[in-house]
Order: sequence, then C-alpha cells, then structure tokens
Amino acid sequence: MSFRRTLILLTGCLLLLAPDYALSQVITSGPTSCPAVALTFDLCPVRGGSGYDQALIDYLVEHKIPATFFMSGKWAAKHDDAVKSLLQIPFFEHGTHGDVHAHLPMHPPDEQKQEVLAPVRFLKAKYGHDATLFRPPYGEYNDDSVHVVKALGLRFILWNVVSGDPDPALTAQQINGRLTRLVKRGSIIVMHANGKGKHTREAVEYLSEQLLPQRRLTPMTVSELLACKQKAP
Ligand SMILES: [Zn+2]
Repeated sequence: MSFRRTLILLTGCLLLLAPDYALSQVITSGPTSCPAVALTFDLCPVRGGSGYDQALIDYLVEHKIPATFFMSGKWAAKHDDAVKSLLQIPFFEHGTHGDVHAHLPMHPPDEQKQEVLAPVRFLKAKYGHDATLFRPPYGEYNDDSVHVVKALGLRFILWNVVSGDPDPALTAQQINGRLTRLVKRGSIIVMHANGKGKHTREAVEYLSEQLLPQRRLTPMTVSELLACKQKAP
C-alpha cells in the first residue's frame, strides 16, 4: 500500500473516531474528581395546581442548599411572585427551559431559536436577570439545537442522574433508591420544583441529610460544579 493511500485511510479512521463536535457541547455532569453534585429543578409549565413546590423551596432556603433552577417562559409568566423570590436567594442559580416547553427537534432552527431565546429575554427585561444556562425541554435536542444555544452564548445543560420525581408511580423509597444507585462525584441530578414531584422534597431531604454527607459530597450550583477544581480526598 502506498504511503499516500495509508495516509488517506488513517485520516478517515481518525475522522470516524473524532467526537461529534456539536454533541461535545452538551454538558451532562461536572468533573468526576470534584466531591460535589448539582441539584437541579426544572420549572416546566403545568396546567392545574399551584405549579410551585413551596415546601421544597422552603427546605432548600432553610438549609441553605445551593440549587439550580431551569424556568420555562410559560411558567415564569404565570408565577411572578415565585420568580421574584427565587431570584432573591443568593445561593440559587437560574437558567431557562424553553418558552412553551416545545419538543425542539420537531422545529426548524429559527423556531428553536425563538423557543430558547424568549425566556432569556423575558428574565432580562422584567427582572434584570442574565440567564446563561439552558436545559432543553424533555432533554430533547438535535444538532440545530446545540448550534442555536451555542450561538446565543448559553451553556447547554442536561443531567446524568434522573430522579424520576414526576413519575406518580414511584414512591419516595424508590426515588431514594435510584439516587443511592446513581449519585456520585460530579453528578447533575434532575428534579422538578413545579409541584409535579410528589416526593421531591423527601428526596432532597434524603440527599441533604443522608446520602450526600455519607458520600462526602457537597451540593453546588451547576456553574460552581462545572468550575470545580477541588479534588476528592
Ligand atoms: Zn421540563
């Protein structure tokens, strides 16, 4: 085989091995060397009920637990008081979660941009808040979504631990069992603060009072976790 041909073959193999540039922009966890985790709470729109888990928020505030919230535009527009009080808590971080909680891959790039950008603009215009983190509704995205979010200067945040808290079939024990199996250094845990999780507060109590101290893990906001240089002892 000629040198030239070998080179072409090699280049082809390397291209196949190279990680997808777009997908590498999607963040699912923090550094696994960091003895911390991020508790994250989506605020997806809800039809009935208050749409706000006050007991959960009270617990987080009372115990000074850093947390990251992802607000959908539709939810924020209906919960002015809740938005104001959440934004006041210094150890809470706030990102966005789409405008109407659309399935991004079903839309062309211009509509995806609108869905991503609307709540960012809303939080800035109404509350003077700069939201730099974005979480796609349903965790659904395609390459266009990744490019749109990057072009807007936002960070694309998913998770690597699904608590399962909105599933009405799961008991608190089952949710805690999942957390026990899955939570480790650098984990980003997805939960809900819109009242959809019947046992979310219990899960957070379990994390904060038992699982995290047992594993010597500290809760941090997503941005803190991503910047974490600490190493586990
Ligand atoms: Zn959602």
